[in-house]
Amino acid sequence: MGFFTSRLDDVVGWARQYSIFQYPFVTACCGMEYMATACAHYDVDRFGAGLPRFSPRQADVLFVVGTISQKIAPVLVNVYQQMCAPKWVVAFGVCTCTGGFYDNYATVRGIDHVIPVDVYIPGCPPRPETVLQGLMMLQEKIRKQRQEV
Ligand code: SF4
Repeated sequence: MGFFTSRLDDVVGWARQYSIFQYPFVTACCGMEYMATACAHYDVDRFGAGLPRFSPRQADVLFVVGTISQKIAPVLVNVYQQMCAPKWVVAFGVCTCTGGFYDNYATVRGIDHVIPVDVYIPGCPPRPETVLQGLMMLQEKIRKQRQEV
């Protein structure tokens, strides 16, 4: 039985890593680099992540792209809570990871203060190659984790 369940985990993990339905939560200039990565030259479709969803209820990976202000943070939490499990979060760009150079009362100093984060992608903005590296790290994490079926 142990052998069977661990093999099933492998198969489900393999399938999930190549069927990423992302929800882009875009607030600022990093969005330009997000779009550049999604277009043909870098082709995220190769990684099974080419179809963004426009409802969080249909998505399993939340891409948080850009500065998150204290005012919009409750909206981000609400979006995250609408996603069904299993779900993952990518912090895209230094503003999302740490607040970046917006060292003021209005900016969330890293989205991990309000929602859990699986992968941090640094840069201002991150180069598409860095984004793809982050995406591959997420795929590996998805594949290796214990799968809920
Ligand atoms: S990390 Fe740089 S490019 Fe991205 S949202 Fe912040 S200031 Fe804009």
